[in-house]
Amino acid sequence: MRIIGLTGGIGSGKSTVEAILARRGAVVIDADRVAREVVEPGKEAYRRIVEHFGTAVVGEGGELDRAAIARVVFADRDELRFLNSVTHPAVGEAILERLGELSRTRPDAVVFLSVPLLVETGGAERYGTEAVVVVDVPPELAVQRLVESRGMTREDAKARVAAQAPRADRLRAADHVIDNSGNLSALEREVDRVLAALGAL
Ligand code: ATP
Repeated sequence: MRIIGLTGGIGSGKSTVEAILARRGAVVIDADRVAREVVEPGKEAYRRIVEHFGTAVVGEGGELDRAAIARVVFADRDELRFLNSVTHPAVGEAILERLGELSRTRPDAVVFLSVPLLVETGGAERYGTEAVVVVDVPPELAVQRLVESRGMTREDAKARVAAQAPRADRLRAADHVIDNSGNLSALEREVDRVLAALGAL
């Protein structure tokens, strides 16, 4: 089984690239999705979060109220630290578990592991990725796409993009770069170019 890291800044096009990769037959593990799964009702991380923050962070259907949690942790660094101390290890373990299962059931698979902060958190070493692929756009274009497609305000989008690790740091850690400054068919060609360079699929 091959494990390839996929990362990129906010609004760079990671999810769009994941969808193309899946159509090409790759297995995609999306860390953001795993992060939502590990806090589903019944999971250990859910139990610890509710125990700590109380029922004020539980929605009507029993699921975590993400907005309520965000309000608490954005106002208090210690609470953010607590939340991360519960969720980060749970996400890491769930990813390693999934990789272990895939290596048994799909030994021929090409797995793309999509982690927003792969470079910044040293995830590449931890998960044994053989290469890091970075989806790259100029920051102004990320802002424009977030405004147009996510309904974010320009100020909010700019602040989120600016809060990230510098683009140059990500690019330095990249073995391959997918340029997403063009349209969607240009992006498909970029993905295929990088798959060919990796000798994958
Ligand atoms: P996040 O970091 O917020 O999860 P992301 O890196 O997964 O974002 P996407 O959601 O794939 O990024 O892309 C951001 C937005 O830009 C989406 O609405 C997507 O449809 C749009 N987009 C992505 N690539 C292109 C492109 N080449 N042309 C036009 N729009 C695009």
